[in-house]
Amino acid sequence: ALVYAYKTDPENRVFDHKDIQLGVAVSLQVALAIQRNQILEKARVLEEWALTDSLTGLDNRRHILKKAELEFIRAGRFNHPLTTILMDIDDFKQVNDTHGHDIGDQVIRGIGQRCRSHLRSVDIFGRYGGDEYLIFLIETDYDRALAVADRLRKCVAAEPITTDKGPLEVTVSMGVAAKGQTCSNATDMIQLADMSLLAAKKSGKNKRHPTLKN
Ligand code: GH3
Ligand code: MG
Repeated sequence: ALVYAYKTDPENRVFDHKDIQLGVAVSLQVALAIQRNQILEKARVLEEWALTDSLTGLDNRRHILKKAELEFIRAGRFNHPLTTILMDIDDFKQVNDTHGHDIGDQVIRGIGQRCRSHLRSVDIFGRYGGDEYLIFLIETDYDRALAVADRLRKCVAAEPITTDKGPLEVTVSMGVAAKGQTCSNATDMIQLADMSLLAAKKSGKNKRHPTLKN
């Protein structure tokens, strides 16, 4: 930090070494404040990077779980409903095998963007890993979560995903679960949703499984 001092009145005394010492002390304090701000900004960027999925720009698994566990506690305290949807792209390996990994990446991004725009901003949504996405619906009971799952499933199937190799038709399957007696945390809910997703895949794809209410 640079401190610039000058006399406004020629009648004033000249600066002595004490004034210079004061100027140095002030500039050191300002320099420290600037440095502290830079470090805080770097820490903010690093934290954001650690919580964001680099391919989609959505929340990553760690971030979703962090938010979901907090929501689980909040919903439990006020006895409010909380539901989760685990969504997985159908036959995604085939997309990679037929069109290449880059096009596969574009499909993962495209589905993520489309679903995000169909959810409320309060809902927790992110990439859980691979071709899986995870959603936590705040203040939403099981029946409404089933309706949201259907809406998302239909919005993916309704229109092909735009890629560099042209539009690609893809579908997703879903597992749905609600916070209930047997869940002691958000991770338990995800396990239930995973079982439900497996059942949806087994019953044919482009489906959601309706029975795991918990
Ligand atoms: P299913 O209908 O049963 O889900 O079959 P699937 O072919 O989609 O199989 P599965 O969900 O088990 O496999 C997901 C594949 O996603 C496996 C892996 O090669 C691919 N994958 C995981 N991460 C990425 C990624 O970041 N980019 C791309 N392009 N592919 C990925
Ligand atoms: Mg899949």
